[in-house]
Amino acid sequence: EALDKLIDLKGSIRVFCRVRPSISTNYFMTKSPVTVEQEKIVVRALGIKKEFSVDRVFDQESTQEDVFQEVKPILRSALDGHNVCILAYGQTGTGKTYTMVYMGSVKDLLAPRQPLFRSTECNTASIISILATKSGSVEVEGLTDVAIQDLKKANQWYCRGKRARLTRITIKRSGGPTEELSKLWLVDLGGSERLLKTGASGLTMDEGKAINLSLSALGDVIAALRRKRSHVPYRNSKLTQILSDSLGDGSKVLMVVHISPSDDDIGETVCSLSFAKRAR
Ligand code: ADP
Ligand code: MG
Repeated sequence: EALDKLIDLKGSIRVFCRVRPSISTNYFMTKSPVTVEQEKIVVRALGIKKEFSVDRVFDQESTQEDVFQEVKPILRSALDGHNVCILAYGQTGTGKTYTMVYMGSVKDLLAPRQPLFRSTECNTASIISILATKSGSVEVEGLTDVAIQDLKKANQWYCRGKRARLTRITIKRSGGPTEELSKLWLVDLGGSERLLKTGASGLTMDEGKAINLSLSALGDVIAALRRKRSHVPYRNSKLTQILSDSLGDGSKVLMVVHISPSDDDIGETVCSLSFAKRAR
């Protein structure tokens, strides 16, 4: 409840950061350039020190339960009638899906799109169930099968599955004089490094462009909301259009920025944190 009050007090956009555990098997691994000091992430490289403040940091030791406890008040506000948008953002492999699956459930990324989303870069996905078979193996029920003739097709399907993934949970409250509807969005964004790479090397890959567009449009919308601008550029991407009534007044937005503790990823880490900084 104290956190609830804090959230209302400090505005409706929160930024959390989660640091993925180190996966290096190197015994003599050098110290991570990423350290956590209270609600601050400190990145050190080549004698330069950069600090980024967020609302809450989850370090390498944090558990799914730790994350859930912090997200709970925001989830609860969806039950109270607010539209809520939780977005996972960051370099590929830093744990976006790990965090979000936990919050939602398993989704079929190749499932036919719903009419609302047709011809957009977003994929909705149907809920599927996981079954343990008698022989002890695990089966995922209801997954979409697609026949593929060549590598090009395989790549197209793969890219389609990998695009920004949105899950919407609609919450209907009845009992009062009017029926109240609220939306809870769980958005697992595509790897953010594309933002960098497409920008830097001028790649023209469709997927890169779509993610690039979604992310920069999302950044612009959040920055405009933060600064209470009268014009919020929702119409610049399909993602921001779809989320428009869940990003503005009366709604709660949580961005969970995921970063790697590794030396090799430092460039991406600074980029992701800089993106998050725009939202604060
Ligand atoms: P992303 O969706 O950002 O590309 P994933 O969620 O697929 O990254 O995570 C990459 C790998 O790291 C997965 O095998 C995942 O289980 C593991 N992983 C990510 N975050 C954590 C964590 N906090 N604790 C343990 N394993 C993690
Ligand atoms: Mg993922």
